[in-house]
Amino acid sequence: EFRPIANPTRTAEIMKQYDIKMKKSLGQNFLVEPQILSKMVDVSQINEWTTVIEIGPGIGALTEFLARKAKRVLAFEIDQRFVEILASTLQDYDNVEVFHQDILKVEWDAEPFVSLKDEEELVVVANLPYYITTPIIMNLIESQLPFKRLVMLMQKEVAERMTAAVGTKAYNSLTIAINYQMDAKMAFIVPKNVFIPKPNVDSAVLILERREQPRVKVDDSLAFQEFVQAAFTQRRKTIWNNLRHYYINSGEEDQLAKWFEAAQIDPQRRSETLSIEEFATLYNEITV
Ligand code: SAM
Repeated sequence: EFRPIANPTRTAEIMKQYDIKMKKSLGQNFLVEPQILSKMVDVSQINEWTTVIEIGPGIGALTEFLARKAKRVLAFEIDQRFVEILASTLQDYDNVEVFHQDILKVEWDAEPFVSLKDEEELVVVANLPYYITTPIIMNLIESQLPFKRLVMLMQKEVAERMTAAVGTKAYNSLTIAINYQMDAKMAFIVPKNVFIPKPNVDSAVLILERREQPRVKVDDSLAFQEFVQAAFTQRRKTIWNNLRHYYINSGEEDQLAKWFEAAQIDPQRRSETLSIEEFATLYNEITV
């Protein structure tokens, strides 16, 4: 009989048995509602051919749900205490490997992870530590890890930024950084009361599906991201006023005006009104 770890009583029992307390500094809020986990696994679309990378397994609440559906689960946990506990809580699953590692420091192009590129299908699933949501996602997107999709439980506000429509308040350089290579979709909202301890904010599950091609064509994706960030430096200013700082010293202000004209973008607009395609057009006028 399957008795999920994701249950207030069982979670409390495990924490008591090993005499440990959760660390706020590591974003340790554990899911104790099995229905949320089932739903997360459903939207992840994993099956017996899928290899799953999990970030932050904790005591294994999500891990066991993944292990029951996937071919294999590789779970990366920074907290040594949990690595020991997982050996016992997940002892019934022979398709799980736990790595005691900071997910931000994993070298995907070195052994033993380099061979992950030969897996039939790779999906990343996580109930993220919220304090490093953006670094984790950007790091994975920029890495060599050939995942098909990311399914991530995160702070609702961050998920809203990543899915924001142009012209809305939530739209910013992060929206563009994410949507350059991924299709972002909000899956469902998760209330505070399904975690122990309860976080201060509402959460949401976000799905990021890798696109076959980036949404726009630019020569250097990191330089493009920096350009977009520069355009958003001061939100209330026009895109012209944000960008001119970068060109004024080099005496290129006149040139900047010509680039705007060639891209057919009114320099008096605010950056939040520019689509990713318009940003790319302007960037390409300037750099190419
Ligand atoms: N997966 C469990 C669940 O759903 O209940 C725990 C999720 S908890 C929000 C986040 C987990 O990420 C914690 O176990 C924490 O120790 C771990 N963690 C925090 N920073 C990490 C890092 N840099 N690399 C890997 N794991 C990390």
